[in-house]
Amino acid sequence: MKRLFTIWPFVYTNRCEDDVLYYNTISGDSAYFKNNSAIANITEMLEQQDFFCTIDDNLVEELDKYNFFTILMKKNMGYYRKESFPVKPVSWQNIDIYNTDIILNFKNDEYLLENLRDITFYINNYADVPVYANLQTIHKAHKQFLFPVIESSKSELSFDAIQSVLQKIAPNIVNINILGGNIFNHSQIKSLIDLFNQSLHNIYYHFHYTDLTSKMQQQFFSLIDEDAIKIILIDFPFTENDFQKWKKIINKKNILIKFIVESDIQIIEAENIISKFKLEDYHFQPFYNGKNLDFFRSNVFVSEEDILTVKESLFSLMTKKISNPSFFGKLIVNACGEIYTTINQPMVGHLIDLSLEKIIYKLITDEYSVWRKNKCLVTPCNKCIYNLLCPPISNYEYALEQCNLCHVKCSK
Ligand code: SF4
Repeated sequence: MKRLFTIWPFVYTNRCEDDVLYYNTISGDSAYFKNNSAIANITEMLEQQDFFCTIDDNLVEELDKYNFFTILMKKNMGYYRKESFPVKPVSWQNIDIYNTDIILNFKNDEYLLENLRDITFYINNYADVPVYANLQTIHKAHKQFLFPVIESSKSELSFDAIQSVLQKIAPNIVNINILGGNIFNHSQIKSLIDLFNQSLHNIYYHFHYTDLTSKMQQQFFSLIDEDAIKIILIDFPFTENDFQKWKKIINKKNILIKFIVESDIQIIEAENIISKFKLEDYHFQPFYNGKNLDFFRSNVFVSEEDILTVKESLFSLMTKKISNPSFFGKLIVNACGEIYTTINQPMVGHLIDLSLEKIIYKLITDEYSVWRKNKCLVTPCNKCIYNLLCPPISNYEYALEQCNLCHVKCSK
């Protein structure tokens, strides 16, 4: 007998040739039908008919062989009736994830600045005492995550330049990341700390654990508002004496320790430091040094199981379809005033002729800008059933020069 079939508005479907994924965005349950043309066809039909269709007897019989209806009912993804209706019942999707023309909905540029959610200021690019363990590491790490930059020609952002950016983005509240070199070596650090203390933004200071060398620097640190988040970055080889200078601070409110790790051995070293200093709030940040691909395969690359373990809402899938959440809304200003979306791509502007609206408009309207480039647009992820469930493209993909940091599709 014919069946009337619909899937619930919170179910997301994805097809890749004859592979089909049904994903319940409320429970996180999924059903993956591999290499099944009958299910691929019925899913295509559903997508084209507002997620409601009548299925003929022959096809019902075929689909029953794969327990299609039983599986979807069991996982609360759809509903069927063994009868026909004279008229098609109303069906709808909560969000039209299949029609995501951002430009159509992007007419009013009055609210452009509201798309900004994160600005990073490299307020300088030098340290008085470049005691970093591995200068080579420093230069590359900032291409993968927020990390200090030390360069041979010294530059710093002026107080006025930073203040004018903050005035431009007001009254929107964003995350502000502050990094150096060593930020304590900035010629106007005291005024800058005052400026950030008075601001309503969410302030994040990023220090290298060797930054706190003098009494003066400790005094500057004590001026920072206690609500600001202070992130202390530790890389290897580790010098305990330098870290001891943070001892009174490390377990205070809003302090996060981040270990930059390149190998399993460094993870063990980090665990020893955590235990010795009784650290409470810490995090591991893998660093790709060009030689530790196996470490990345075990610690960063995702498997099908990893992907399906993370529950994604329909809203989050929609966000990933039209943008790249790793980069969207984020800008980086380096110590020379150049503006980037990521240090891995050419600059998008300069503080000298700052028009944030122009920069943001361009980044939003260009489908291939870093803010929008997502896994539906790049090879091989564009042909992968998991492309919206998978973590978005990040700086790691740039560092490893491949988009599929996974065990699903063949990689390096
Ligand atoms: S191929 Fe791309 S989208 Fe598919 S699992 Fe791998 S990284 Fe994710």
